[in-house]
Amino acid sequence: MRVDLHLHSAVSDGTQTPTELLHEAHAAGLDVVALTDHDTTAGWAEAGAAAERLGVTLVPGVEISCRWYPPGDPVGIGVHLLSYLHDDTDDALTAELHRTRTDRVGRARRMVERIAVDHPLEWEEVLEQLSDGATVGRPHIADAMVARGHVTSRDEAFERVLHTRSPYYVAHYAPDPVDAVRLVVGAGGVAVMAHPRAARRGRVVPDQVIADLAAAGLSGLEVDHRDNDPRARAELRALAADLHLFTTGSSDYHGAGKVNLLGENLTAPTVLEQILDGARRPT
Ligand code: AMP
Ligand code: FE
Ligand code: FE
Ligand code: ZN
Repeated sequence: MRVDLHLHSAVSDGTQTPTELLHEAHAAGLDVVALTDHDTTAGWAEAGAAAERLGVTLVPGVEISCRWYPPGDPVGIGVHLLSYLHDDTDDALTAELHRTRTDRVGRARRMVERIAVDHPLEWEEVLEQLSDGATVGRPHIADAMVARGHVTSRDEAFERVLHTRSPYYVAHYAPDPVDAVRLVVGAGGVAVMAHPRAARRGRVVPDQVIADLAAAGLSGLEVDHRDNDPRARAELRALAADLHLFTTGSSDYHGAGKVNLLGENLTAPTVLEQILDGARRPT
């Protein structure tokens, strides 16, 4: 059984509709996939319908943008938390996701204002890159810059303009990761920390923060992910064992938006069972 628990659609910063994504997953020989768009569950219904037609099992999920602030550091460190199978009508979690999505709009507009000083760009050009109702993010600004001819790829846009240490960078509201784990568990979901050592994206949190997340109800660590290097993976496996967490593997597929390929990392069927058992099913 081939299980890939981290996929993005155009409901956030992937490039395929949820239907197209499920078709690709089926063609790639995947049996179980999770849709984990950034800060939104808006793709669940469409993905679920496509999954049912194709005989693929869908694990509905979300990737929650969080931020941990080291003492005395107002910038903070980004943490991505995967939630699987939570109740998407849960008021507290829904409100938090809504707050993040809303703040992302103002944040993206401020980034465009800063960028436009040096690289002419209008907010409307970013909107043209966005599906209706999708969570806006830096990848859409990247796509608008590609369309303008400022850069040739998302990757180049991130390297030159959009990275976290760039003068054009603006942070958006994001919950504390411990609070987010509690919200996921409160909504009946299973929480897994995404790419815990993705150093390429910026700073990563110390192990003590992961221990704090475990104490708050975190279930697993996404160890097999291309952004965790081999040494980080070995360290994460040891940490997971210490903290009694399971480990997952996933592609973090974004369609044409990233080089990541569907199924390039997989999760063990026994771990999938733990996720299905750990989620509180609606009665
Ligand atoms: P944001 O959440 O708006 O801060 O944007 C972060 C998103 O940008 C992540 O979810 C990644 O999918 C995407 N991203 C980060 N670096 C790159 C890159 N080099 N190329 C393409 N996408 C990237
Ligand atoms: Fe993304
Ligand atoms: Fe992520
Ligand atoms: Zn992701």
